[in-house]
Amino acid sequence: MDLRRPVGSEENRYDLHGGVPFWLVRNGIEPPHAPLDADVKADVAVVGGGITGALCAHHLSEAGIECVVLDARGAGLGSTCASTALLQYEIDTPLHELTQLVGTTHAVRSYRACWDAIDELQAIAKRVGHRGLERRPSVQYASRHRHVEDLRKEALLRSVHGMMTTFEQGSGCRAWLPFDVPAALRTEQAAEMDAWRFTHDLQRFDRERGVRIFERTPVLSVEENSVGVLLRTKGGYSVRAKQCILATGYEAHGTLPKDVVRLHSTYAFASGPGTSKQPWPERALIWETARPYLYLRTTPDERLIVGGRDVPFRAPAMRDALLDRKCEALLKDVRRLMPELDLDREFSWCGTFGSTKDGLPYIDRASKRSRIWFALGMGGNGIAFSVVAAGIIRDTMLGVRNPSSSLFRFDR
Ligand SMILES: Cc1cc2nc3c(=O)[nH]c(=O)nc-3n(C[C@H](O)[C@H](O)[C@H](O)COP(=O)(O)OP(=O)(O)OC[C@H]3O[C@@H](n4cnc5c(N)ncnc54)[C@H](O)[C@@H]3O)c2cc1C
Repeated sequence: MDLRRPVGSEENRYDLHGGVPFWLVRNGIEPPHAPLDADVKADVAVVGGGITGALCAHHLSEAGIECVVLDARGAGLGSTCASTALLQYEIDTPLHELTQLVGTTHAVRSYRACWDAIDELQAIAKRVGHRGLERRPSVQYASRHRHVEDLRKEALLRSVHGMMTTFEQGSGCRAWLPFDVPAALRTEQAAEMDAWRFTHDLQRFDRERGVRIFERTPVLSVEENSVGVLLRTKGGYSVRAKQCILATGYEAHGTLPKDVVRLHSTYAFASGPGTSKQPWPERALIWETARPYLYLRTTPDERLIVGGRDVPFRAPAMRDALLDRKCEALLKDVRRLMPELDLDREFSWCGTFGSTKDGLPYIDRASKRSRIWFALGMGGNGIAFSVVAAGIIRDTMLGVRNPSSSLFRFDR
């Protein structure tokens, strides 16, 4: 399997995001991991040192499986550092629509897997000493009056399937939101985090117990045979392992067994500190029913992070050229909702992300008996899918049944 496109070529190295991602400024630079400078062996080779690769390595090393992680960039410098990191169990396709696409059992199990992923992320954060994860309520509001009935239906369906969700209409929503809306749905099963910090905290913890991490090590190819896999790196070294996980994020696009992912450009900004001191009930995560959706969260230093205004992705330069215009439009979107808010834009950035026809990720092997796994989170809750991917892959490697393993196959 050829992994050179698109990461191997120099001109594409930094093409997953543009502008100034807030988290990179906030966190500064971490001590780098060295590039690979010798041939190595491990049980599992993880390609990609973003949040997905870090979670896969964490799950495997917990189970006593020896891992090596290789990243073409610095760890977390792909989509992970651009993530606005709202942790929500909601998949981009509402449950009542997903049931039509994949059937009720499949849809409910997919939602439940993401629900559980929030608790699991919190437990991992605690275990590795990550302090940036905070529980928050998540509130989705009806952007238009004609969305109200669908939102009511959605709240009821989720509650019926054990995912407790509250629905409110008119002035009742003001207890949850800092602006007026026709109706809203609220869940307590949500959190916010700093995905870049979390990835580095996780990797620091796992290095202590033997996970080897190599940065600036593009993997050019992966070959497999009946006993294992052989990876070749741009530096001329090889990695031999029993299995390989491609946690290569949206750059996996060109290597998938099927053309199943559509790429989009998305935009975000962080305001100056102190903005969210103004009434913001329980620092809720807020998003809407319109597509593409506007979303808002707060940060520990009381900034607002606002995101949305997605458009189909064509090229990094075209995505970046729209940055200022798109973030100005996001600013106006928030000012329309809260004209009294003293809001500015301190950091603006954009990124590429992938979506699928049903909003579900692909977590599967390249073919039925392949030793090469894809761990691909997609859409607005990609991080929840990263946790789900790490659990499915670990369990399958250990020969343990995982109830989610059939949900995210290429042939679904
Ligand atoms: C602006 C923005 C906002 C977002 N907001 C949210 C949100 O609020 N909530 C949420 O859950 N998700 C959100 N997402 C999605 C989320 O950020 C992603 O799902 C997540 O970061 C993906 O992590 P990853 O590790 O799979 O990918 P990445 O972080 O991109 O990591 C993949 C790594 O693989 C490496 N790589 C690729 N190919 C090779 C190769 N051949 N050799 C070696 N290394 C290779 C790359 O260098 C990269 O570091 C957002 C995304 C963007 C862009």
